[in-house]
Amino acid sequence: MNERDSEIIAQTLADNGYFPASTMAGADLVILNTCSVRAKAEQKVMSLLGALRKAKRERPEMRICVAGCVAQQEGRRIIERMPHVDLVLGTQQIYRLPELLAQAVAGGARSVTDLVDDYAIPRFLPAATGTGATAPLEESCRFRKFVTIMQGCNNYCTYCVVPYTRGREVSRRVDDIVDEISLLVAGGVKEITLLGQNVNSYGRTNPVHSRADYGFADLLRAVAAIPGLARLRFTTSNPKDLDEALIRCFAEIDTLCPQFHLPVQAGSDRILARMHRRYTVADYLEKVDKLRQHCPAIALTTDIIVGFPGEREEDFAATLSLLERVRFHGSFSFKYSDRPGTRACLLDGKIAEEVKAERLARFQARQDQISLERNRQYVDQELAVLLEEVTIDGGRGRTGTNHLVHFSTPLPHRPGDIILARITQAGQHSLQGRSAD
Ligand code: SAH
Ligand code: SF4
Repeated sequence: MNERDSEIIAQTLADNGYFPASTMAGADLVILNTCSVRAKAEQKVMSLLGALRKAKRERPEMRICVAGCVAQQEGRRIIERMPHVDLVLGTQQIYRLPELLAQAVAGGARSVTDLVDDYAIPRFLPAATGTGATAPLEESCRFRKFVTIMQGCNNYCTYCVVPYTRGREVSRRVDDIVDEISLLVAGGVKEITLLGQNVNSYGRTNPVHSRADYGFADLLRAVAAIPGLARLRFTTSNPKDLDEALIRCFAEIDTLCPQFHLPVQAGSDRILARMHRRYTVADYLEKVDKLRQHCPAIALTTDIIVGFPGEREEDFAATLSLLERVRFHGSFSFKYSDRPGTRACLLDGKIAEEVKAERLARFQARQDQISLERNRQYVDQELAVLLEEVTIDGGRGRTGTNHLVHFSTPLPHRPGDIILARITQAGQHSLQGRSAD
């Protein structure tokens, strides 16, 4: 989500005559687009801001802006502690950065972090191609793009800061989403990932379409109908809201990739209840089974929090047995950290750092083995790969299941081509292949 927000910021700046600097030290404007979902991400921002204090002393004309969730959370406190920061930009203000920066420099407000309930995500179209406008950021891949379909979250999982930093859930209008994607596809983009904190509740909180019951599965079908779009993905989805209509899409939409990131967080019902996730392990497993029935090739990934307040050894053992039962293709796992203002901060039974670290290491070691075992099953298979990079002696790309494939022999193809690759080797985090075309 931050990656997409950074692109939006970059585009608004490019439209106002800015262009990317080659180094941070030489930049006229430095923007830190921040994340506060876990304590570690926030600490990184604070130490980088400390380093920038020195840079600004040497070059007082340098402007510094803090955007994203840390900006939203800390607001004026950043300006008070860090007088070298020119602007603190809230999460609902990113489209207005150039204007707000000019005002701040002229003596206006230096912290603009209003968070309103009736926020509407602006209509925002990609820079037109062929007009001479340059790509504002060094892009990770020109053929794969994220598109925001909603912002904020109403779920209030007890550990999570997102509802406080991103505000109430709002969905973007269908027409705006379809127009943005149509333009991206016309400009050569092959793969789109639809983004929201809980895409399953798309359309539930504000009108997005003339049909009142228009939901996420309808949006997927509308996007899939855009001519030229080869691949479609989405993230993220709260298991409690995953319904049949969405599961059916995996059997019915050819371009919907066989991949699902379905964060479970924990394998113990007691912990899930304390997290306010509103599903049980049995509910989760039922949905996993249904997904696999509709789409046997589907690769499932998840998020796990270890060391949530009150997590006993038997709760953690339940998380390990869930891992054995589902055998996720991969997972992102984190040590629980207190986030300001969340309900979990107030829970008793906080777990010692060493215990969290030890549980995390145990979980990750087992996940790595399972990922390797699963990846080995792809060896000798032929899979479609969207090439992201082609060099003189190889390249890399991704499968529909979102596995990275490295090629170490020359490819008679160009980046952006979707080729058939024979998988020759498997590692924990990626595959090796050669062109089978
Ligand atoms: N909307 C997504 C999650 C977004 S946050 C969902 O509901 O699945 C991304 C991940 O960060 C979460 O899935 C969770 O695993 C992790 N996370 C969030 N808050 C955390 C905290 N306080 N401590 C540790 N991990 C956290
Ligand atoms: Fe956070 Fe829960 Fe919302 Fe995900 S669903 S963003 S974890 S509150």
